Amino acid sequence: MALSFLIPTYDARLVLLSMTVAMFASFVALDLARHVHTADGATARYWLAGGSFAMGTGIWSMHFVAMLAFSLPVQLGYDITMTLLSWFAAVIVSWIALSVASRSKVSWQHIGMAGMAMGVGICVMHYIGMFAMQMDPGIDWDIVWLAISVVIAVVASFASLLIFFWMRNRKNHSRLAWQGAAAIIMAFAISGMHYSGMEAARFPLGSICRAASALDYTWIALLIGGATISMLIVTLVTSTLDARLQSRTAVLASSLKEANTALQRIAFLDGLTDLPNRMLLTDRLEHAIARSRRSGQVIALLFVDLDGFKTVNDSLGHQAGDQVLKEIAKRLSNIIRASETVARIGGDEFVVLVEAVDDRAALAVLARRIEAAVSMPIVLENDEVQLSASIGIAVFPDDAKDEKQLLAHADLAMYNAKASGKNTHRFHDAATTVSAAGLMADLRDLRYALERREFELFYQPKLAPNGTDMLGVEALIRWRHPTRGLVLPNDFIPIAERFGLIVQIGSWVIEEACRQMRAWLDRGWTIPVAVNLSVQQLRQPDLVEKITESLVRYGIKPQHLTLELTESGVMDDAEQTLELLNRLEALGVKIAIDDFGTGYSSLSYLRRFCVNELKIDGSFVRDVAHNDDARSIVAAMVNMAHSLNLRVVAEGVETLQQSEFLSSMKCDELQGYFFSRPLPVNELEHRLTAKEFEMRVATGLPQVLESAESCPCDALLKDGLEAVK
Ligand code: C2E
Ligand code: MG
Ligand code: MG
Repeated sequence: MALSFLIPTYDARLVLLSMTVAMFASFVALDLARHVHTADGATARYWLAGGSFAMGTGIWSMHFVAMLAFSLPVQLGYDITMTLLSWFAAVIVSWIALSVASRSKVSWQHIGMAGMAMGVGICVMHYIGMFAMQMDPGIDWDIVWLAISVVIAVVASFASLLIFFWMRNRKNHSRLAWQGAAAIIMAFAISGMHYSGMEAARFPLGSICRAASALDYTWIALLIGGATISMLIVTLVTSTLDARLQSRTAVLASSLKEANTALQRIAFLDGLTDLPNRMLLTDRLEHAIARSRRSGQVIALLFVDLDGFKTVNDSLGHQAGDQVLKEIAKRLSNIIRASETVARIGGDEFVVLVEAVDDRAALAVLARRIEAAVSMPIVLENDEVQLSASIGIAVFPDDAKDEKQLLAHADLAMYNAKASGKNTHRFHDAATTVSAAGLMADLRDLRYALERREFELFYQPKLAPNGTDMLGVEALIRWRHPTRGLVLPNDFIPIAERFGLIVQIGSWVIEEACRQMRAWLDRGWTIPVAVNLSVQQLRQPDLVEKITESLVRYGIKPQHLTLELTESGVMDDAEQTLELLNRLEALGVKIAIDDFGTGYSSLSYLRRFCVNELKIDGSFVRDVAHNDDARSIVAAMVNMAHSLNLRVVAEGVETLQQSEFLSSMKCDELQGYFFSRPLPVNELEHRLTAKEFEMRVATGLPQVLESAESCPCDALLKDGLEAVK
């Protein structure tokens, strides 16, 4: 039987070359497949096209070089068209392989089908290549070997795809070794297919090759092999460079992501405590409310305000204050459950958002735990402080219709807690929000109180130590509520401050005080008036202009108006206050520090502030009659004030003993119920006409008044308004 066929021989060098090409092509193919997988969009399409070309050429050239290694005792040659066709088949096969490899998710079915397609494609390439020899008579095929070659092609394709998918998720260093091993296996498989396919071909004796030519095929084989290997090297280098570029891009992308995360932290977290800030809380609250609307689940807000924090901050400094806030934040975070949110929304204000509320009792338990946690002593570097918390609780949907109202009602309930003595919690209650023990005022009413002219100024005389000479009055605001009667400032000023109404109310007070001074001036009475300013008015950008306007409008001498600022308010932002006080001094109005002794003034600031007067807080005055300490404190305050060239006013004088002691201490002015309560205008005027008090500044004939035009502050006003423009 052997005799009836031509005996083929193989050129060992070319066989080796074909194996090398196969191995190299496989290695590059695996690399490309990985690339097509990791690249995205247009880049992936380029890699798919370029990769199919390079890989197809590699496979084909392995096959072609192997064909050239083969020789028969007759001269051989290859039909160009058929040869090109077999190359084309190899490119298509590669395209199939790479397309499958680029999918991020593949099923067994996919790999099976793709393996089959690839295997068949390789066979098609191989056998087209064989037909390119155009043997005459035709090749006699051995069916068994033919089948074996097809099976090897399919199994090898399937195996290489499997190896690829398995390898895809390896780490870089181990991947290279695996890729090398896989390339060797694939090369053997491809070569195995080729040589078993060759085994299937029998060339009958006397066959001739119609495509035979006189070309030296060894050289062509070397040329094709060399060119292919060079092309594969270029492909590999490009692919590696691109991989680097991609990983650089990945690094860039990840640092961009980090930057984004950092930005988000800044936007949504409180810088000091790392707790969510107001923005994030609002966002979570909105979502919680939306969920609650769908599910009917109850949610709650606990508004936590620290009692006494300001004192710590003022007396121990901002650094200590920060430390306290951090500690409190930590404690609150430890108390709450993962599903709850604790946020810091202002200086010493924290809010806890509770979703899925069981009942009010559970909320009260949580509130008590917060109270307990806050009131544990906090150890600082050199000090130990102890605070307490006032907590207001509001529940959705019972207490509010949206997130804004829920927060506002929790806030108001917190105010209730403060009003009932602090260190406690209060639930929102529509009835008690209006007045905690009759003290809380309804915010909405307050909004309209100005328009409805419900505010009124009472005036309390300030007397010389002799108790009869009236040196001026302090204007104290009252709210004549249509149903509640006369409401005192402590019951509505804090609310006005909290809800941003104080600036408007404060402007009205200044205007009204000036109007009243003018009315008295017109009667011939020069009565200096002191008005109280709230901290927020100190931050009002046009405060100086507003005061100037009022003074000018009523032709009041600036030195007849005193502004009372509370000690803690002034120290709140001492540097900024300093600048304001300088402008006020330039205007000519007087400045008094109110409630002196209750805050923590820094003496150095007092010296720098252009202050005219200190008002010793009533709490010291109350104790002077029977407490030695109080006496020595008051004595020290008076001495200190005098040494700074400040006048001293004692507030809250209620008894003769207090009055006598304070006079002996050389207080410059006394004020208190002992002399007079704050009085409505007509009552004050009545007493003045009855000569109960002597107006020391307004003795004798009616003063000749400056007209508005000639007022010295006119120029200032002009300057001020120019500046505003
Ligand atoms: P303040 O400026 O320290 O005013 C003194 C307070 O002590 C007044 O209370 C006055 O009625 C009260 N008082 C006077 N003499 C005695 C006394 O002998 N014994 C006792 N126990 N109290 C006495 P009032 O009018 O309730 O005002 C309370 C606070 O409200 C004021 O304290 C002031 O800080 C603030 N306030 C009053 N009017 C205004 C205003 O127009 N604007 C602002 N921002 N705050 C105001
Ligand atoms: Mg005052
Ligand atoms: Mg006071």
